[in-house]
Amino acid sequence: MVAAIGGCQHPVHLSGASLVVHTGTGEVVGEYTTSEEPGGVLLMACGNRRESVCAPCARIYQADTYQLIKAGLSGGKGLPEEVSGHPRVFVTLTAPSFGAVHTRREVAGRLVACRGYRAGRVCAHGRPLGCGLVHEVGDERLGQPLCGECYDYAGAVLWQAHAGVLWQRFMVALRRELASQAGMAQREYATWARVSFAKVAEYQRRGLVHFHAVIRLDGPDGPHEPPPDGFDAGMLMRAVPAAAARVEVMTPDSEVGRWRLAWGDQLDVRPILLGADLEGVSEEGVAAYIAKYAIKGSDGTAGVDHRIACRRCNGSGRALSVSRARCARCRGTGLKPGLLLDELPVTDHARAMIRMCWELGAREEFAHLRLRLWAHMLGFRGHFSTKSRRYAVTLGELREARARYRRQQARERDGLPALDEDSTVVVGHWRFAGVGYSLGEAIMAEQIRERVETARAIARKKEQRTNPDDADAGAGESAGE
Ligand SMILES: [Zn+2]
Ligand SMILES: [Zn+2]
Ligand SMILES: [Zn+2]
Ligand SMILES: [Zn+2]
Repeated sequence: MVAAIGGCQHPVHLSGASLVVHTGTGEVVGEYTTSEEPGGVLLMACGNRRESVCAPCARIYQADTYQLIKAGLSGGKGLPEEVSGHPRVFVTLTAPSFGAVHTRREVAGRLVACRGYRAGRVCAHGRPLGCGLVHEVGDERLGQPLCGECYDYAGAVLWQAHAGVLWQRFMVALRRELASQAGMAQREYATWARVSFAKVAEYQRRGLVHFHAVIRLDGPDGPHEPPPDGFDAGMLMRAVPAAAARVEVMTPDSEVGRWRLAWGDQLDVRPILLGADLEGVSEEGVAAYIAKYAIKGSDGTAGVDHRIACRRCNGSGRALSVSRARCARCRGTGLKPGLLLDELPVTDHARAMIRMCWELGAREEFAHLRLRLWAHMLGFRGHFSTKSRRYAVTLGELREARARYRRQQARERDGLPALDEDSTVVVGHWRFAGVGYSLGEAIMAEQIRERVETARAIARKKEQRTNPDDADAGAGESAGE
């Protein structure tokens, strides 16, 4: 069982039974009960996306994300190969600046000083306005503000909380822009072409997310037909910046201020081409790049992996949202009992963002942003990877296909005939029976993880030998960092 879940670090134990039933006849064609398993339970992989939580499960998530993005670019998993002929671009949308932060700056391939430094010039808090240092890669100051008091934390947190809305409005604006470029009304445009996307969010060192997206133009019915001649990548290249520039969200009226939120000006749009090219990026490069970010957990610059709000009051600190009585669980702090903001393993900058989430989260006008519930993500409450319906298969479909494959594999091992998946259903009842490993199982899991990693490394090497061009996935590296 430990091997079957790939050495997952936090398996869930289930007890119960399931039946495979023929839908036509009602006949029971398969039976499984955990009472025959060692310990009387079945281990299930936790399925966590974050590498910092469960490395083996994150690897599977990453591989699925790669396959999903790749299918939307090159075909496969139900999409025709011809989809690679459709116009598509790779887009990076960034957050605007909320104050000067330490950065690594390169000019014509040479590292230069962090920020133009004029001796003696200081901010209202007496801190230097520039920084003459050339920061090393691992420098903890990178992404941190030059002056924490000058930095607009409220603006940064509110931007992050609206990043998902900004993306939605961007897609609406993009469809409008494409239609107007073609000289059509939007409804008419939809009878000619359709826009699909897949995107991931990536935290920058300054604690704000980027979006990396593949945007593709299909025929009116989706990926199975190309858009008409003349609907090309150039159209997307022109429409994306125009749409991004137009999008804005106004924050609600508040005593703390009002912000007009928009995208930063470090926009990047490139055509995605077959194979690598100087002007564009390759399909494999894009898929690998996006998959890389899909599993990133927190490294201290991007908050923490788990919610920090009290479960009973969702961070409000009140017994009921209408009453004045304190929540008995957190004693009114709104924090998970025993948790101290000062002791979270994050940078001072991330901590300041978390504190701002806490502060603004107490205000009526921002209640809908649920800032305290999402404080551990520095206010971001969107999904890490999303796609439009027609982009390609879903992660759920990939998981279902894998489960089906494993089911058939297991039957084969037991000498049973293959199941006709179309005419059978699996019905089960399961009970949660715990989580984690015994000491012996944990040692086994560690060995299995190593074995899986070695097997992957060998497979990767083999693939690189046959396909040297695909070895590197560094396309579009570090735009706007
Ligand atoms: Zn796991
Ligand atoms: Zn600096
Ligand atoms: Zn200052
Ligand atoms: Zn509480």
